[in-house]
Amino acid sequence: MTPRTLHPDSLAVHAGREDLTSLGVHALPLDLSSTNPLPDIETGGLSYEVLATGGLPLEGGSHVYARLWNPTVARFETAIARLEHAEEAVAFSSGMAAITAVLLSLGESGKRHVVAVRPLYGGTDHLLASGLTGVEATFCTPDGVAASVRPDTGLVILESPANPTLELVDIRAVVAAAGDVPVVVDNTFATPVLQRPLDLGAAMSLHSATKYLGGHGDVVGGVAACDARTAAALRRTRAITGAILHPLAAYLLHRGLATLPLRVRAQQASAQIIAEWLTTRPEVVAVHYPGPPTGDPHGLIGTQQDGPGAMISIELAGGFAAASALTSAVELFTHAVSLGSVDSLIQHPAALTHRPVQSEAKPSEALVRLSIGLEATEDLIADLAQALSIAGADSATGADQATMSRAY
Ligand SMILES: *Cc1c(COP(=O)(O)O)cnc(C)c1O
Repeated sequence: MTPRTLHPDSLAVHAGREDLTSLGVHALPLDLSSTNPLPDIETGGLSYEVLATGGLPLEGGSHVYARLWNPTVARFETAIARLEHAEEAVAFSSGMAAITAVLLSLGESGKRHVVAVRPLYGGTDHLLASGLTGVEATFCTPDGVAASVRPDTGLVILESPANPTLELVDIRAVVAAAGDVPVVVDNTFATPVLQRPLDLGAAMSLHSATKYLGGHGDVVGGVAACDARTAAALRRTRAITGAILHPLAAYLLHRGLATLPLRVRAQQASAQIIAEWLTTRPEVVAVHYPGPPTGDPHGLIGTQQDGPGAMISIELAGGFAAASALTSAVELFTHAVSLGSVDSLIQHPAALTHRPVQSEAKPSEALVRLSIGLEATEDLIADLAQALSIAGADSATGADQATMSRAY
């Protein structure tokens, strides 16, 4: 049986572990070495040069230093590459470190202009708008991509489903509009279980591995899956800037991958029921969930993405005051940023994850984002029901005059 024929569920359990039996071990080996013995100066120097310029370890060479290469990290990368149908993957200390490396690596081509399809995660939007990496960004909507591409455009970046509105972006259409320019898809919300951007024509799929890939709220990491040439450029940037994933984080991420398909499908099944239920609540004026009938106007569920996923955003009739009351009143949901964990989370994007976004692209102050976990659906609904009742009563008493403070 060749690895290519394996179902994604089997890959999630076995990819990056193929040699374990021959090594005589069953669990993933964890190598925490910060430095590695060198056979001799000549081989050590050559090994250093290959790794620091983005190459793969020399046969019979040394890994030299853990900022350049780590075998536990490399195993996780192998697994992600397989799940994303990519040649290679490169893992970073966070999702933002991965995106930063992608932008810094553009310097090699001299094409430092980026077309960014909004909405994006607040941190990505902030990084692009800041100019910190030396790139110039043009923000646009999906149908504005063709008009925004210039001769010096190095990449187009998009998120689908987008954060926090859960809008689906037609990846094939953006790839066509981008022409020769590579398209990078932030696949954090969909995960490779539901969407494989490279199969849709994208050049790269990247993740905040902190979210669904890790899945247990105990690790920060990022990963980019792409062709071998681009991966080498990213490894070079990673080696120079020092953004490699920690091996213990790689171990936890790889361990979490085994249950990724099960987690995503169970969380999605619960989210579908909760999204439907939320539409019946008087306190909720809009439910953003990428499922039929209203959340998928272009018919992308089933053709681009295998299911709607487990993220839901809602807009509250009582505006910011109701959002504030709701996030304080939940008992089973945790009021916290991040997403994709086994436990359910709730947060207010305009105040938190999207706080640094320029005002014209900021989410509504009435919008609250939910990440549905693995608790029983009925318990999550009961918690939201009691918290929405409090939020509805509070905002009815006139507290809805309150608006968000603008400290940022
Ligand atoms: C969280 C997140 C990021 C940033 O990842 P970190 O691991 O927090 O650095 C990027 N994109 C999306 C869609 C995210 O949700």
